[in-house]
Amino acid sequence: MNILILGGTRQAWELARIASGERGFDIVSSLAGRVREPVLPSGEVRIGGFGGAQGLRDWLVGHRITAVVDATHPFADTITGNAAIACRAADVPLVRLSRPGWSAVPGDNWIRVPDLAAAAARVGDLGERVFLTIGRQGVGAFAGHTAQWFLIRAIDPPESALPPHYELLLARGPFTVEAEADLLAEHRIDVLVTKDSGGADTAAKLTAARDAGLAVVMIDRPAVPEGTAVVSTVAEAMDWLRRDVTRS
Ligand code: NAP
Repeated sequence: MNILILGGTRQAWELARIASGERGFDIVSSLAGRVREPVLPSGEVRIGGFGGAQGLRDWLVGHRITAVVDATHPFADTITGNAAIACRAADVPLVRLSRPGWSAVPGDNWIRVPDLAAAAARVGDLGERVFLTIGRQGVGAFAGHTAQWFLIRAIDPPESALPPHYELLLARGPFTVEAEADLLAEHRIDVLVTKDSGGADTAAKLTAARDAGLAVVMIDRPAVPEGTAVVSTVAEAMDWLRRDVTRS
């Protein structure tokens, strides 16, 4: 089996590690190349875009790929859409591996919004000091907010326009609740903005926000393309791959 893992997440990294040790599996992981110093997964790695759905289809055929696991971030909806189109066109089985989103618990004050633009519109009246933890790519949506101050946390510096009042914090999770609580207090944060990425590595900020009684603007995930099989754990993705081997 020649398996392509569309990566860029901890789950993709885990899957590459486990699947590389399985007899009969040849793994190639693909990264978009966004992060300057990525933590590389085990096995073969290719970096950079494919050139849209057609480019990905051609790549799958050219490399005789027999199964694709789309383990990209839940918000990477372009590559997820392209993978669905390309796999259908190349007749290659596809599964979407996406960890569950976060759920509010008593004490949380979450405001769910459908997308970045809605988050930017909503955050204006929730406080003066905003903690933005949406990755570097979406920061531009907040550039027009002149009256608020932003603590922007990302792995690499944003390249888009930035709001006039901000501090940039370059950091990569996991983060602890204690460290997150200190950060919120030190910067006198009023409101947190996050994507519903799910997972444990970056969940501590939600606990810290709950403990501090802060509002959280939670951006909902984009929908998975219709007809795409979905699993939420690496173990389920491995089961899917093993079933696929016996089918072929
Ligand atoms: P996106 O908007 O869905 O994709 C934009 C383009 O980037 C795609 O059309 C594709 O280019 C290329 N691309 C994306 N993922 C790729 C991969 N794994 N391998 C090869 N090419 C890829 O993606 P994004 O939101 O910019 O995210 C880029 C990468 O960062 C993803 O791999 C994702 O797992 C990771 N990531 C994203 C987020 C997030 O919040 N969006 C957070 C953490 C990590 P072509 O059309 O040329 O093929």
